Amino acid sequence: MAACMNRVFFSLVLLASLATGSFGQDGKAQGADQAEQVESLRILLITSGCCHDYDFQTRAMQLALEKRGVSATWDIVSEGGTGTSAQIGLYDKATWAEGYDLVIHNECFANTTDADYIRRITDAHRQGVNAVVIHCAMHTYRSAEIDDWRQFLGVTSRRHEHKSHYPIEVVDAEHQIMAGFPSGYRSALDELYIIEKVWPKTKVLATSVSEKTGEKHPVMWTNHFGKCRVFGTTYGHSNETFQDEVFLKALTNGFLWAAGRLESK
Ligand SMILES: [Zn+2]
Repeated sequence: MAACMNRVFFSLVLLASLATGSFGQDGKAQGADQAEQVESLRILLITSGCCHDYDFQTRAMQLALEKRGVSATWDIVSEGGTGTSAQIGLYDKATWAEGYDLVIHNECFANTTDADYIRRITDAHRQGVNAVVIHCAMHTYRSAEIDDWRQFLGVTSRRHEHKSHYPIEVVDAEHQIMAGFPSGYRSALDELYIIEKVWPKTKVLATSVSEKTGEKHPVMWTNHFGKCRVFGTTYGHSNETFQDEVFLKALTNGFLWAAGRLESK
């Protein structure tokens, strides 16, 4: 595989009561005076393509998990350049996702359309590789005729509106991913993705309203695709978003939920 992989290893750390109230690790005991060694989260991050500062975003996500005391090993695949169309070597093998607890898609290749290529990606997820999908992942393979990727994402989106500080309305305050998310919160400067379709297994967690049409659009959700869990958010355009502690908390909650480290709902 011609993959250009930068491996960043965080050592296995003693996880001392990372749970602050609303969630635990694999249902294990939790508490301030309780320390336990948990297995490091094995993450594969795919991050490249058009329009965003992926190095900054990657580091922000790594630091956010580290700050929560979550030990993780990261394999980072940054291939395909900064255009809107590429087929990366990672996906040459059907087993590309083997061994990972979580695959994070933060890539942006709207004009890649090859059906076999796309299905090698979605098939791995269908078989049980959990995922988080961020921002332009929703417009990746946008020009493809097949719907497999969109079904995997849990939403269909083909365009976005202008950057603004959008109010985020929590739809499901009981969901672990949204625990502690403040009411009346406004996003960092970001784009609003127009959601044309919400797929049947998608559960919307939060929405924002278009300043142009007044229509609500999902901005955070969960999905089930085959045997895998997916957490998605359409926010994530700007570096400002990746400096927003509220966003990073929800995003890393999404990592843990998708990886089965939060109680399922
Ligand atoms: Zn963007």
